[in-house]
Amino acid sequence: AQLITMLATLATTENTVRESVNEDLQVAERTFDQLFEQRFYQLSQSVQVLVDDFGFRSALASNDSPTIVSALENHAARASASMALYVDLNGAVVAGTSQDDWSDQPGWLAIRDEIIATDYLLATVTLQNIQYQIVAVPAMAPAKIGWVMMGFAIDDAVAAEFRELTGLQISVYDPDTLTQNQFISTLDNNHEAQLITFLQSTKMSSDKEVVSEIILADESFLTRIHLLAGSSRPLFVVLQKSLRQEMLPYHAMENRLIMLFMAVLLGAVLAGLGIGGNIVAPIRKLVMQAERIGSGNYAVEIAINSKDEIGQLSTTLNTMQQEIARREFRIVHQTQYDDLTDLPNRYLVRDRIETAISRAQRSNGRFTVVMLDISRFKKINDTLGHHIGDILLKETATRLIRRQRKSDTAARMGGDDFLLVLENTDLQTSIDLVSKEILPLLTSPHQLDEMEISVKFNCGFVEYPSHADNAASLLRRCEIALYEAKLSHPGLAVYEEGRDEGHLRELAIVSDIDKAMEENHLRLYFQPKLNLQTGELHQAEALVRWVHPKYGFLPPDEFIPVLEQTGNITKLTNWVIREAARQCWEWLCHDINITISINLSALDLMDPGLLGQIERAVDDYHILPSNFILEITESAVMHDANAARAVLQELQSAGYRISIDDFGTGYSSLAQLKSLPVSELKIDKSFVLNLTSSSQDAVIVKSTIDLAHSMSLKVVAEGVETQESMTLLQEFGCDIGQGYFISKPIPAGDFAAWYQANRERFITPEKVAA
Ligand code: C2E
Ligand code: CA
Ligand code: CA
Repeated sequence: AQLITMLATLATTENTVRESVNEDLQVAERTFDQLFEQRFYQLSQSVQVLVDDFGFRSALASNDSPTIVSALENHAARASASMALYVDLNGAVVAGTSQDDWSDQPGWLAIRDEIIATDYLLATVTLQNIQYQIVAVPAMAPAKIGWVMMGFAIDDAVAAEFRELTGLQISVYDPDTLTQNQFISTLDNNHEAQLITFLQSTKMSSDKEVVSEIILADESFLTRIHLLAGSSRPLFVVLQKSLRQEMLPYHAMENRLIMLFMAVLLGAVLAGLGIGGNIVAPIRKLVMQAERIGSGNYAVEIAINSKDEIGQLSTTLNTMQQEIARREFRIVHQTQYDDLTDLPNRYLVRDRIETAISRAQRSNGRFTVVMLDISRFKKINDTLGHHIGDILLKETATRLIRRQRKSDTAARMGGDDFLLVLENTDLQTSIDLVSKEILPLLTSPHQLDEMEISVKFNCGFVEYPSHADNAASLLRRCEIALYEAKLSHPGLAVYEEGRDEGHLRELAIVSDIDKAMEENHLRLYFQPKLNLQTGELHQAEALVRWVHPKYGFLPPDEFIPVLEQTGNITKLTNWVIREAARQCWEWLCHDINITISINLSALDLMDPGLLGQIERAVDDYHILPSNFILEITESAVMHDANAARAVLQELQSAGYRISIDDFGTGYSSLAQLKSLPVSELKIDKSFVLNLTSSSQDAVIVKSTIDLAHSMSLKVVAEGVETQESMTLLQEFGCDIGQGYFISKPIPAGDFAAWYQANRERFITPEKVAA
């Protein structure tokens, strides 16, 4: 901006100077023209005075030559004219102040002819390289006898005088005789020579003024050229002014301007440096800080100790950085830690297990993972409220942490499941640690408000590397162990080889068995047994169903085997016994007398409380032992025949009938059964289903019936699906039939209605007669 202003100022100044010089030139031009006319006038006056002079007239009349010459000389001197002449009527010079002979000069010849033609004359003429302003007036004595002429030389003196007057350079020239000796000029020789060269190359026309700037010897001159008025021959005047001269005072100003420019520039640079130091550098720091924050590095704080906006900005940025760091920490924490207990969550604990694995690999060591859950936590939540549940969870977490060694990790997996990773600890040590130290601490009563609550825990154990070698399997198998723990009595279980993934669903289901009984998810169905000989319906088999809140309707095959494997079948059996007894009583109340077959497992036989349980149920519901038939599978009996025999004996003595279920699948022989207190055989449905199509099955069934009868055992055929097989069984002398042809298992609540509708259905007239 400064530079532009400066250049503009300089340009304007130069223009102004140029214009003012131009004006000077114009004024000078007019002045010169006036001066020129003035001289003509002056000459005319002088000549007229001379011509009118009486003495001069007399001298002319008398042709007194000496007097004429002296008069001419006197007048010329008085008018400061350069010459004075007297010429006759032919234009020949008679007398004059100059002795020069001009008769052969072209200038002279031209004006002579003019004088003769016009009488009066004002003209410029070049005579012997000198230009003159000439005036000619007729001389009378008293008749016209010739002319008196007077002239001013236009010479260097005139030019110098003009220059004096106007301060301009002036040059006068005749274009026809353009040489240095005829060139009148105030310029010095050098400039003069150059101007002549310029004029020689420029064709001047008489009617045009030329205004231009020309350069003479590296100096610029503003120049006006014009034709002089009143000359018979073209005579040009060149007026010039040197720009350099005129510019001189402005150069001083120009220099001051440049100085000012430099000073301002210096000031701007210094200010820039100052701004750079005070604003740009801190801003650059802030930018770098922002980039650091962007890339997630919150460690560095910037210190800008100024109180201005930059300082405020840096403080804000620091605060923002802290806030972001805090928030990011919180978010990361939330993804890795449990909100309620602040323990590591299931995702973080997986990492911890992976770390433990790599540590154990390096040291060739082992470690244990323990999963714990609170027994019946749902019930606590439901009865005491979630608030209490949360407190219990938090308390448990606190206790776990209190007990924790430095190398251990306690985590919450969700719900009421916790996890311990016990590093450098083998299985046995960790079982001891958990059962002797951790569990006593966890199960000690909690004092909540007014009440005291104590909870039980189940714990599943897995050991690295013996049970699994990666985090995912360790966690899954630990969960399996926990399910088994829920089903085992002290609530502890170690993962057992082979009980793997496929098992998980069943385990998950079965671990809910307590809840199922409490919350009434179990149902008894009853499948009628038909007396094939009389057509009477006096028996039914109790078959359990589970309506699981999550998995829906579950057939017994899905959970009975798992309950048996995990040793939990007894709970179910006891429930079935009581429920069957209650149902039996209810029917009796409606005058329906049904003997109910109850399925017992091998494990039930080992339960010393079995008989007591049955008797209590029978007593409580005022029914009779004869209302029950106890079914035991062939394989269960054969597993430990001696032990079984004792229990069965006891049951039989108490009045309960025993039935051997699924007979034919256990590879026992009837001979072996002979020693057992058994009153009924149930031929397995696999033989009955194809009875009419397979002659082999028919033979087996027929001979089994015969043999059983020979041992005075009643025979039940299960899986009777068609009329044909039922007819055949009747022909074989089978006592009782059970199967879909007679009825599918019926929900307890529907049984009475079904019974009323079907009690007569199988009784044929012939049988009634019999
Ligand atoms: P199970 O004791 O042999 O029971 C007979 C099974 O055969 C029942 O299956 C019954 O629905 C089915 N069945 C009856 N008639 C027919 C027929 O005509 N054709 C065909 N294909 N099948 C027929 P469910 O109810 O699924 O019971 C399966 C097994 O679960 C039972 O076999 C029994 O071993 C066990 N179970 C059922 N309830 C209990 C119980 O309360 N305690 C124990 N320990 N085991 C039970
Ligand atoms: Ca059965
Ligand atoms: Ca069976």
